[in-house]
Amino acid sequence: MQKISLLGATGSIGKSTLDVVARYPEKFSIYAVSAGNDVEKLAKIAAETQAKVAVIANENKYEELKQALKRNNSNAIALVGKDSLDEIASTPEVDVVVGAIVGAAGISSTFSAARAGKKLLLANKESVVCGGQLLMTTVAENGAQLLPVDSEHNALFQCLQSASNQSRQLLRLVLTASGGPFRLRQDLSTVTVEEATHHPNWSMGKKITVDSATLMNKGLEVIEARWLFGVSQDRIDVVVHPQSVIHSMVQFEDGVVLAQLGAPDMRNTIAYSLGYPERLDAGVQPLDFSQLSALTFEKPDLNRFPQLGYAYEALRMGGSASIVLNAANEKAVEAFLAGRIRFVDIASVCRTMMNAYQQHAPTSLAEILAVDQEARILASEYIDGLTGA
Ligand code: NAD
Ligand code: MG
Repeated sequence: MQKISLLGATGSIGKSTLDVVARYPEKFSIYAVSAGNDVEKLAKIAAETQAKVAVIANENKYEELKQALKRNNSNAIALVGKDSLDEIASTPEVDVVVGAIVGAAGISSTFSAARAGKKLLLANKESVVCGGQLLMTTVAENGAQLLPVDSEHNALFQCLQSASNQSRQLLRLVLTASGGPFRLRQDLSTVTVEEATHHPNWSMGKKITVDSATLMNKGLEVIEARWLFGVSQDRIDVVVHPQSVIHSMVQFEDGVVLAQLGAPDMRNTIAYSLGYPERLDAGVQPLDFSQLSALTFEKPDLNRFPQLGYAYEALRMGGSASIVLNAANEKAVEAFLAGRIRFVDIASVCRTMMNAYQQHAPTSLAEILAVDQEARILASEYIDGLTGA
């Protein structure tokens, strides 16, 4: 029986994880669950899963959480704050940590799980983007096992399984992108929040859905792939594949390409990572090839979606550029969702913040978090300037 800490239990990945876990009560149990703010939903999940611990990141919600747990007949211990997230990510009680927090808020607990040598199922791509080499070293030095839940990286991981002794012969990683809701739209200056929060193929949290519409998501994934697989950015390609059936591909020096295909449902990648090295049935309908009319491919348009290019640029700049880009994007998406800036302003916030970036490579988690904080403050000031606030 493997015990799981599920960080970000109330989100989209959280829900898919609970769904897969519920199919295998003899293999997995939920030890701890966490959420950012939604006390009621967290308490419900804690009751349903019979979790031992429930953590709410918001420090002011201790009493509220305690009462909600009681109302839902959960015996879980109530904890609050960021340190408690680190605690449930590293406690000896737990074998598996699922990192499904959104944004840089997940960095610290990801490091905590890595330092404790856990099996870490990581959906929180922002912690790989910001943690970079330091995260990979922490994973290796502590004997942790990092399994990517992001569908593209999970696909790459699967393709590379069959080539474990051939890494020298690996030529390129090819990440597929759906192209998002605005693939065919020329004028992006009038995009509404409603339009940007509906993805054609995937059902996900709001932030990643907006990131998919700007292609920042693919940019973050290029950075994520760079660190997870130790492949430099000039050997990572992005191809737009609107059907989202091929989740990513690996090309070898002899020209051979291996691809991983499946329905666009995150339960597939979660089940694969939970069961690894065994394959578990996720309860997802397998692909029906007779229903697939075509698989098509296009080049991404960096003029309309410049943030994909910024990600490559951040990798070339090195140092803390990726952390700055990520923080700027998070603040800009937040402002866009609040109706304060336009969709196209998200890219200009990122551009401006990257221009203001100072060369400095962080060498510790504390430095990473400090750069993230500083970049957030600067981005907020710049956004205030844009909105006249
Ligand atoms: P979501 O918004 O649905 O859920 C986010 C979770 O994080 C919630 O449980 C929320 O309570 C928690 N949270 C938010 N702010 C927090 C904070 N400050 N401190 C602690 N917890 C906080 O997001 P999601 O779509 O489930 O995505 C989660 C992560 O997985 C993201 O990094 C995303 O990029 C990645 N991811 C998601 C998908 C997907 O299909 N949803 C696919 C690939 C990767
Ligand atoms: Mg992805």
